[in-house]
Amino acid sequence: MPIGDVYKVNREPVLVKTYKDGSTRWHSEACPKCGGTGYLHGYEHIDGARCWKCNATGRYPHEWTEPSDERIEKQRAKEKAKLIAQADEKNAYFMKSHGFNDDGKTYLVLGDTYSIKDDLKSLGAKFDYLMGWKLPKDTDKYPTVEIAIDEVTDKDENGWLIYKPNMDIEEVVKKKKQAYADSHKSEEEKDKNVKISDYLGNVGEKITVTAKLIKEYTYDTNYGYYGGTSTIYTFEDDNGNKILWTTSSMPYVNDKPIESGKTYTITGTVKEHKEYKGEKETVLTRCKLTAATNESLNYIVEETEDDAIMRREEWNKDAGYYERDGVYKPKVDVKTGAMILPKEIYDMWN
Ligand SMILES: [Zn+2]
Repeated sequence: MPIGDVYKVNREPVLVKTYKDGSTRWHSEACPKCGGTGYLHGYEHIDGARCWKCNATGRYPHEWTEPSDERIEKQRAKEKAKLIAQADEKNAYFMKSHGFNDDGKTYLVLGDTYSIKDDLKSLGAKFDYLMGWKLPKDTDKYPTVEIAIDEVTDKDENGWLIYKPNMDIEEVVKKKKQAYADSHKSEEEKDKNVKISDYLGNVGEKITVTAKLIKEYTYDTNYGYYGGTSTIYTFEDDNGNKILWTTSSMPYVNDKPIESGKTYTITGTVKEHKEYKGEKETVLTRCKLTAATNESLNYIVEETEDDAIMRREEWNKDAGYYERDGVYKPKVDVKTGAMILPKEIYDMWN
């Protein structure tokens, strides 16, 4: 049929009927493919662009319905209701296929899981690239952290479970792993605290101890015209013994202020032994700090200069020596010229 015939086609759609919901039924004589022209633009190289649907007549009677907004809305609501009705079933499938149990819990396996993946599979674990292997039931065989479904999923508008954004899930997993590490660290620390703090040295003795600075507490003092601050440094040695040193100066080791968590070799005089919250503490004074050496962590008792003088004086007194012009001389029997010795010294020497 020649293309010229298309001019005979009525291209205006005709309203057939209007439905109660406002939707409309239409009829058209014109071909929907070529718009009633019988000619397909851009297809000149195929059969001279003749429309194949209407055989280039431009005439192709057909009908259609244009839904009203009301009908569209109703249709959408119906589809939505269908999706909502499916939610329970779909969510159960989601949970099962992602390793969650009926209570909405899953147990993420920590550590290297590659070598144990076959065993994990046999235990019903499910893998995903974001979190890893997840067991529906906790096991004593491997370290795990519990994850609740609400922590990693949201529900879409139809109540279907969907994973939260990757970043949120990564954050949840990171926190869980950190909490796991912390709880295990604190168990180690608890073991460490089983060590009973004991006193070091005797009061007045000079001791050297290698210990870690574990706490600093700075407070205001009223000493001096302007006042100032003092800091209580608490150290702990490898045996759990606590060493306290209070100073108003800023202690430096190798030109750096001392830092918590670092280990130092401390030499100081034992000022006091005291107990605080059931822990024995050795209070030192006039301390000198150096970088920790690898030497024995046990303390070395040294005598202070004052102690040495006092001890010599005591010994001389006991030995019957007397001081004259800064020189100690033994007491002698005037008649015999023999040294007069206290009984205990005599016993020691004989
Ligand atoms: Zn056509």
